[in-house]
Order: sequence, then C-alpha cells, then structure tokens
Amino acid sequence: MSKTRANIASDQSKLDFSVRLMEHLVVPTFVLDAHCRVIIWNRACERLTGIKAGEVLGTSEHWRGFYEEPRPCLADLIAQRRTDEIESLYAEHDRHGSESQLALGRRAENWCVMPCAGTRLYLAIDAGPIYDDAGQLVAVVETLRDITAQKVAQDELQRLATRDGLTGVANRRSFDTALNTECRRVSREARALSLLMIDVDFFKRYNDTYGHLAGDECLRQVAEAMAQVTQRASDTLARYGGEEFAILLPATEPAGAVIVAERIRAAVEGLALPHARSDVGPHVTVSIGVASIDPASAAPPTELIGAADAALYAAKMQGRNRVVQAGAGEAAPSR
Ligand code: GH3
Ligand code: MG
Ligand code: MG
Repeated sequence: MSKTRANIASDQSKLDFSVRLMEHLVVPTFVLDAHCRVIIWNRACERLTGIKAGEVLGTSEHWRGFYEEPRPCLADLIAQRRTDEIESLYAEHDRHGSESQLALGRRAENWCVMPCAGTRLYLAIDAGPIYDDAGQLVAVVETLRDITAQKVAQDELQRLATRDGLTGVANRRSFDTALNTECRRVSREARALSLLMIDVDFFKRYNDTYGHLAGDECLRQVAEAMAQVTQRASDTLARYGGEEFAILLPATEPAGAVIVAERIRAAVEGLALPHARSDVGPHVTVSIGVASIDPASAAPPTELIGAADAALYAAKMQGRNRVVQAGAGEAAPSR
C-alpha cells in the first residue's frame, strides 16, 4: 500500500525532529553516511573543533577538525570495516573487537591536535553503526568527549606512583617491575642483561658534615649526573633505597656494562661536590658493582641482584670510588 501524503508529511516531520535533536545535543556528535560523507555535524561539535557544519557537510574532510594530516576517524573505520586498524591509530581502545560485535560500536581515546580550535585535546570517542531494516549500513554516529583534564591528572598520578619523590628517577617499585620484565626477556629473546648497583661513598659522614638537606641536594645532583650518562630509552635508572641507586641495562654484555659503570663513576666524581670527610678524596664519589645475566644460564632476578650487591661490597672493600665486576673482577678492580 503506497503512503498517503499525510503519512509522508508525518515521516518528514519526525526526521526533522530527529535531526534537530541531534543538532542541539550537548554531546559533540557527527554522523557519516555509508560513503564516509558528513551528514550531521552538530553545534557542540562546531564548538569543540572550531569548524562550522557548512564547511564539512557533504565532504569527507571531517578529519580536519581533529588532525593536521588526513587520516581515518573512528567512524570511518567502522563504516569501512577497518576496525583492525584501531589499535595502531589510537592511544587507547576497547578490547571487544570482533566483526560480529561491530553493531555494539567501538570506543577509543586519542590525543588530537584540533588544528582549528588551537588546543591539543585528549578525546574519548564512541562510534556506532546504524543499519536500515534490511541490515544495510546507512550511517555511523561518532560522539566525542573532552577528557584532557582527567588524562593529565591520571598521567600525573602514574608518574607519582613510579618516580622517586626526591630525585625524580624511577622508584624501587618500578625498578622491580622492570627487572622482572627484563629477566623474562633474557631467555625469551636470548639477549644479555646487566645491572649496576651504585652506592654513594661515606654518605653518612656527608650528612653529618653538611646536614640532611644538603645530603638530599647531593643525591639529586648525583642522580642527575647518572641520568645524563644513561640515555638509552630501554635503560632504567632507579633509586634502590637511601643513597643507593640501580641501573638496569637490557641487551648489554658485561664488557659494555663496565664501560657504562666507569662513565657513571667518572660523571659523579666530575661533579666535584665537596666532601671534606671522605677518605677517598675531596669530592663525593660512588662505588659500583656490575653483574650480568648470560642468556644461556637465564638466572632469576634475585641472583642478579645478589651478584651486583656482592660486587658493590667488593668495590667498597677495595677502597671505594671504583667499579667491580661480579665474578671476574672481585680481585681486579677497574681502576
Ligand atoms: P659507605 O661508603 O660504606 O657506603 O658508607 P655510607 O656512610 O655511605 O653508608 P651508610 O649505609 O653507613 O650510610 C648511608 C647514609 O645515607 C645514612 C643515611 O642517613 C643516608 N641517607 C639515606 N637516604 C637518605 C636521604 O634520602 N637523604 C639524605 N640526606 N641522606 C640519606
Ligand atoms: Mg654509602
Ligand atoms: Mg648504602
């Protein structure tokens, strides 16, 4: 039965109402048709992106609201059934990703440059498909939420949980995590792992002489000097406790680790921080124990720590301000 004129008019007014509803929704929203052309770009989306609806309606230029270079938005990936690309294009995303669940929509998060709004924002993005009665995709709705403030707060919390409050280097907890991760990789990827245990010489006397606050400042400067030396992204410099530091050097053979340790020792001595009551010399110095795991033996983390600790003890016994390598070097200090 064909529709009467009254029915058609009623359908049209329902459609107008739906579009108006979407236009004025306070949640930034845009809608793409099955060919990824913008059919709705609501007021809140205009405010968020700084782009007027007239500039994008009927085009596939919606990416300009968020990025400087052309790239798909979440709605494009859903419309084109390219959801396997979400992982590489977004900082975070939901895990239910199978094709059969596509109708539920997808959720992702990303840092967006927002070229027209002029502010970098971290957006939470939801996109879901709309099908007609025959099951054909007719549109994809994408809604956006600015969660920059939450993201910044969350990152800061994360930083606080993993960094040492005094020196800013990794704390003991994140060192333990990194150590366990790297020890597992030794046998899996058959690569060496080295550890330096570093202890400030006569630090009790330093505190007694210059005061605890000066001691704190000294630890900050020692950590900073060590951070300058260990610049490989995979290296972990951590405060192990008190005036003791640890450096984890993945994919580093014993010989390479001794070279890094000697650079660390020289860098701290090079700070030339006065230490009037050190028996070693006029300046603050460190002693360093070096230990390595051979991929063939794949020793547990405790063994690596124990070996580096024993080497550090040997370095102290042999006069301090020196590097001693576990096993090989207890009797033969590097300087
Ligand atoms: P050695 O050369 O054998 O290492 O002697 P040492 O005096 O450095 O070793 P000891 O373990 O006797 O003393 C360590 C000192 O480090 C004692 C402690 O008060 C001080 N210390 C530990 N943590 C901090 C800190 O966060 N700030 C300050 N200022 N001092 C600290
Ligand atoms: Mg000490
Ligand atoms: Mg100590």
